[in-house]
Amino acid sequence: MNYLVCDIDHTLTPFKDIAARLRLGQSLVSRVGQKTAQSVSYFVGQCFETNLKVARGDRDLGEKGQEILHLLDTASKQIVKKTPESQNVSLRWSRELYMMAAQSVVGVALSLQLMIEAADAYWRGIAMPTDPRDSRVYPDVIQFFKWLDEHPTPWELILVTGSDRRLYFSDGKLVYAPEYSRQQKWERIPTLLLQKSGNRVFVGDPIGKPDHEFWRRVAETEAWDPLDDSIVVVGDSYRSDICGVKQLEANPDILVYQPPEAKEQGSGRYNITTVLIDRHDHSYPKDEIPEADHLISSFDEMPKILEQIEVGDTDGTG
Ligand SMILES: [Mg+2]
Repeated sequence: MNYLVCDIDHTLTPFKDIAARLRLGQSLVSRVGQKTAQSVSYFVGQCFETNLKVARGDRDLGEKGQEILHLLDTASKQIVKKTPESQNVSLRWSRELYMMAAQSVVGVALSLQLMIEAADAYWRGIAMPTDPRDSRVYPDVIQFFKWLDEHPTPWELILVTGSDRRLYFSDGKLVYAPEYSRQQKWERIPTLLLQKSGNRVFVGDPIGKPDHEFWRRVAETEAWDPLDDSIVVVGDSYRSDICGVKQLEANPDILVYQPPEAKEQGSGRYNITTVLIDRHDHSYPKDEIPEADHLISSFDEMPKILEQIEVGDTDGTG
């Protein structure tokens, strides 16, 4: 089988943080006033940008970035984590958490209920763009899907996406429960992607990319076979999308059960090709290993990559 594994945000769909923060700000105005709402929204943006840098493997966060991570980690101590396996997960992507941390920076007290409402407004802004010209899926991705439909070799589409770390309000506390957060994320995935993938979606609640436990779950559920399967992973985050799956490729024995014949034939390794998509020319740390196998700027370049892999399969070298 051929498996095409795609990250969602910034890879298949635009992620308009600025538009979403506008909605977040609007939801706060009547309660805290225009100026404070803007300041909270600005801080939320800084938190997001800092985390994006971390996910992309940027090691130069600066003093400001380090301070933001510290504020988020401190604030997250006040959040109740519901299940045993979620105790050690980071909540650094939670917009509710950003607002909790914003209080001391902006100098405002927000009720927990208001934090939830503002986060809801933010995610509605991501899921439903106000401008009808804004496509929920990148045009080059839609073109690529057409190519996939017409292409003679089948590629199974699987979606892998990080958690939004959505929180809810209960007994005077903000609560993280993986099931709730997963469901919220699922609901904001564009219908086109769900149809195309046949709802094969792996959401990072509680454990997500780049943790190899996440990738182990994908490999096991999909029953990837190192002897026969070609796996292509596409994502926009060097650290989240490329590095984790590279570990799975390098250490298959300890991570996933493999048929004995795979080991006998000396093919214990998964056949994984990684593709880093860099639509906006971010600077990736080129000196780090393992590097992505391909660096592309749009899905227009994908057919050529997939066809190369198919050729490799038929002559037994792939
Ligand atoms: Mg992404």
